[in-house]
Amino acid sequence: MARLIIMGPPGSGKGTQAEHIARHFGIPAISTGELFRTHVRNKTELGSEAIGYMDSGEFVPDHVTTAMLRGRLEEADAADGFLLDGYPRTVIQIGALDEMLADRQQTLEVVLELTAPDEELLARMLRRAQEQGRTDDTEPVIQRRLELYRDETQPVLTAYSQRGILLSVDGSGQRETITKDAIAALEGALAR
Ligand code: AMP
Repeated sequence: MARLIIMGPPGSGKGTQAEHIARHFGIPAISTGELFRTHVRNKTELGSEAIGYMDSGEFVPDHVTTAMLRGRLEEADAADGFLLDGYPRTVIQIGALDEMLADRQQTLEVVLELTAPDEELLARMLRRAQEQGRTDDTEPVIQRRLELYRDETQPVLTAYSQRGILLSVDGSGQRETITKDAIAALEGALAR
């Protein structure tokens, strides 16, 4: 079973793509952002710790995020394979994930990057704000999230590229076409 990561700037459509890709490979899509939103909805202690960071577009502290992910990866459905969405977002989190996988005697197979031009990202997020009412889809918060992506998350892409496991797919255009391209690229990489 595949152990995959999907990466891409906020608004690149990675959450939607993650769901479709994960279904194709029969693995759970695990989104740290979605896990946080569930905690917020359920008014848990973790949710109340995270909400202030999320609403201002900042990262939730690494130790909080990593502990939450570790718990999720221990669930039975993630034992052999998973598609991570939204983690790792910092170079520190790369190390934390490496440790979690080493404990399970597993390795990461492919990191898929969805690319899209900035104008398209902003337009998509403003549209999503209207459709889904996400409280972190306002323009100043979006700008902050894009900035953090550039400063903190691009280095994660560089690191995976140096490991030779990074695949990039054009994430602009029709949802179905992007899903097909992404699955074909992943299958090619997994077969190697
Ligand atoms: P997302 O749904 O992936 O855009 O995540 C929404 C928000 O959750 C982010 O803006 C962060 O506040 C928080 N978050 C999600 N994943 C992480 C992570 N790996 N590290 C820190 N904060 C995160």
